[in-house]
Amino acid sequence: MAKRDYYDILGVSKGAAQDELKKAYRKVAIKYHPDKNPDNPEAEDKFKEAAEAYEVLSDSTKRQRYDQFGHDGMRGGAGGFGGGMNMEDIFSQFGDVFGGGGGGFESFFGGGGGGSRRRKGSNLRIKLKLTLDEVANGVEKKIKVNRMMAADGVTFKSCHVCQGTGQVKKVVNTMLGQMVSASTCHTCGGAGQLIDNKPPGVDGSGLKPKEEVISVKIPAGVSEGMQLSMSGKGNEAPGGGSAGDLLIVIEEKEHDHLQRDGNNIVYDLYISFTDAALGSSIEVPTIDGKVKIKIEPGTQSGKILRLRGKGIKDINGYDKGDQLIHVNVWTPKQLSPDERQIIEGLKDSVNFEPKPTNAEKGFFDKMKEFF
Ligand SMILES: [Zn+2]
Repeated sequence: MAKRDYYDILGVSKGAAQDELKKAYRKVAIKYHPDKNPDNPEAEDKFKEAAEAYEVLSDSTKRQRYDQFGHDGMRGGAGGFGGGMNMEDIFSQFGDVFGGGGGGFESFFGGGGGGSRRRKGSNLRIKLKLTLDEVANGVEKKIKVNRMMAADGVTFKSCHVCQGTGQVKKVVNTMLGQMVSASTCHTCGGAGQLIDNKPPGVDGSGLKPKEEVISVKIPAGVSEGMQLSMSGKGNEAPGGGSAGDLLIVIEEKEHDHLQRDGNNIVYDLYISFTDAALGSSIEVPTIDGKVKIKIEPGTQSGKILRLRGKGIKDINGYDKGDQLIHVNVWTPKQLSPDERQIIEGLKDSVNFEPKPTNAEKGFFDKMKEFF
């Protein structure tokens, strides 16, 4: 079938201005609108043909191409017009042509099938406090939640406003004639049904709080403020439908000795002046229990020791952080007369004079090395 000339379809001259095109298209669209021509494929073809013509001629680039090459110029290619607009495209175009929003017309052609759109229940949010140990290794927790659940003994009746479809159709008078638009029924909120009878303690949507113990697997490496979601473990939807989600917000409990820094664990170790000078073996806490570490003779205050892999597992991978031990040499605050005598005897020892070398860098240089 030979394609008709776009200008002929809209009944305008080649030099027609945009305003004129729009006016002409309105006229044709109203004449052949499917609402006015039910079960008339010929009218539908004409309706689509007009939409296509307007689509091309209202676009200056496409129009120029059409003027130059005719229908051949419109086929395929970049910026070309493939032809065959579907009804959805046509109606989205209406917003421009007829003013007002383009929405609301979809029900006529929508093919959406209608019916009640089942709603989702609301989400439940709970806070979950974890110890550093639980954060580091992951944990399975049993949490008690109060979920709004469909109550027993509730009877429903079909919604009288939407007849159980959950949607109300409204006939709207437009320039195209009468059009049907659909929206969610306000009376039943889209559920299609209303409560007929309910036992005491049940709320207006037929739900009742019910305590439930839910088992949650928390992966290793979570951190403060992180939110885990368990789908379908939130409140149930009034009148059926799918339940909302349970959102678990992570909070970290403070550890007595260890601090978290990203995936690393930081520990402040205090050693005695004699241990620092003589060397020692000292127990330090880690998230996996106590570990003995060696203090070399002549250890300086401020030294950072690293326990590789004793940190927290990365939540996104297999890497594990380290435990960093910050060594502090403890100076006694009070001395007994005997101690005072001994230390005073060391006062003039050349060895006790501070002589930092380049290897004994300042605290900030050391921190730079570690982080
Ligand atoms: Zn309803």
